[in-house]
Amino acid sequence: MSAIVAIVGRPNVGKSTFFNRLIQRREAIVDAVSGVTRDRHYGKSDWNGREFTVIDTGGYVLGSDDVFEKEIDKQVELAIGEADAVIFMVDVETGITGMDEDVAKLLRKVEKPVFLAVNKVDNTQRLQDAVEFYSLGLGEYYPISSINGSGSGELLDDLIKVLPEKIEEKSELPRFAVVGRPNAGKSSFINALIGEDRYIVTDIAGTTRDSIDTRYNRFGFEFNLVDTAGIRKKSKVREDLEFYSVMRSIRAIEHCDVCILLLDATRGFDGQVENIFWLAQRNNKGIVILVNKWDLVEKDTQSVKQYTKAIKQAIEPFTDVPIVFISALTKQRIYKAIETAVEVYKNRSKRIPTRKLNDVLLPIIEQTPPPAYKGKYVKIKYITQLPTPYPQFAFFCNLPQYVRDPYKRFLENKLREHFDFTGVPVTIFMRKK
Ligand code: GDP
Ligand code: GDP
Repeated sequence: MSAIVAIVGRPNVGKSTFFNRLIQRREAIVDAVSGVTRDRHYGKSDWNGREFTVIDTGGYVLGSDDVFEKEIDKQVELAIGEADAVIFMVDVETGITGMDEDVAKLLRKVEKPVFLAVNKVDNTQRLQDAVEFYSLGLGEYYPISSINGSGSGELLDDLIKVLPEKIEEKSELPRFAVVGRPNAGKSSFINALIGEDRYIVTDIAGTTRDSIDTRYNRFGFEFNLVDTAGIRKKSKVREDLEFYSVMRSIRAIEHCDVCILLLDATRGFDGQVENIFWLAQRNNKGIVILVNKWDLVEKDTQSVKQYTKAIKQAIEPFTDVPIVFISALTKQRIYKAIETAVEVYKNRSKRIPTRKLNDVLLPIIEQTPPPAYKGKYVKIKYITQLPTPYPQFAFFCNLPQYVRDPYKRFLENKLREHFDFTGVPVTIFMRKK
C-alpha cells in the first residue's frame, strides 16, 4: 500500500494542473489497459522510484464557490485525517486571500508534514512576489510553476523524504472492505453479520486509524471485515459529504483484498458508486457488488434481470463481477454475500500452472490468432501467470507491440471462460520473446 498525499487549496490556484503533471505518465498506462478514464482526481505517482497516491481534493468538492467556502474547513480536515502528507497550494498571481489564511490556520495545528506550494511562479519577478507567503506561518515554501514544471523537483524530493517507507499490513488475514456511499447500509450490513457474535473471533477496534476491523470466521474461512462507516459515525462528520466517503474508500480499498461495494437499490448505481467501483478496479482488487435495501424495491420477475443489466452497462468492459441482491434489514442473502466475497478472494489468489495455461490457451490462439497488423503476423509462443498477488499474465510473442486491445480483451475473456476470475481484474501483458 502506498502513502497518500493530498493537495488542498482554494479553487483556481492550479491544483488539478499540478495533479495532472504528477500522475500523467502512469495514468496513460492505466487507461490503455482498462480502456476507461473515470476519476480524474485520484492517481498514482512516483518520484525517484517512490510510489505514492495523490488526491486532488478540490476535485471532490461539488457545488458552487460559496458552497466551497463552507466546505473548505471540512475538506482540509478530512484530507489531513486521511493523508500522510499535505500539499497546500496557493497562487502568487492573486496573492494571499482570506481563504488561504483560514486553511493555513488549520494546517499550522497539524502534526503531519505540510508543504506550502506557491504556484504560478512562472518567472523571476514572481519569485520575488512569492516572499509574501512566509506570512502564512507555515515556514519554508516551494515556488513552483505547474504549467512549466519548474520547482516541482525540489518539492517532490522533500516530499518523498517524509513519506512512510512502506505501510505495514496489520494482518496476514484476507481483508474485505465494505465500501459505498453514505447511507447505503454499510453499518447495517456489518451489524447484521457480526450480530451473530459466535462467528467473531476477536473485535479489534481501531486497528487502523481509519476503520474498524472485525475478525470473522465463516464457511471455514477466516478474514478481517473492514468497516469504513463506523468511524465516520463516531467522528460525526456530515453524512452527505461525498468527498468524505471517497477519501475513506481510497484508503480502505488500497488496503483490502476484496472490496464489497454496497449500493442502495432505491438510488441505483450512480456516478459516485461508479467512482468507487473504478477505484477498486484500478487497484486490482476483488469486487462484489451488493444491491442493498432490496426489500424496499417493488419487484416483479424481471427486476433482478433489469437491475443487473443496468449495472453491467455501467461497468463495461469489466462486467465479470458478481452482483448479489440483499437486505441488511431482513438479513436476506447476507451470508450469500460473504460467501461470494470468499469466492472472489479465492479467484484473486488463484495460480494457474504454466502447463495448464498453455494447454488450454495455445489451441485457442492457433484457431483465432491475432489479426495481422501492418502486414505483420504475430506469433504467441507461450503464456505464464506472473507471481503477483493478483492475476496478471504475460503472453510471449515475436511482435508484442502489434497486439491491439480488442485481441487482448479476447484473450482475457478466454481466460475468464476457462479459469473463473469472476470479480477480479485481470491484466494481460504482451512480452517480447
Ligand atoms: P484548481 O481549481 O486549483 O484545480 O486550478 P486549475 O489547475 O484548474 O488551474 C486554474 C487556472 O490556473 C488554469 O487556467 C490554469 O491554466 C492556471 N494555472 C495553473 N498552474 C499555473 C501556473 O503554474 N502558471 C500559470 N500562469 N497559470 C497556471
Ligand atoms: P451507512 O451509512 O452506509 O453505514 O448506512 P447505514 O447502515 O447507517 O444505513 C442507512 C439507513 O438505511 C438506516 O436508516 C438503515 O436502517 C437503512 N437500511 C440499511 N440497510 C437497509 C435495508 O436492507 N433495507 C432497508 N429498508 N433499510 C436499510
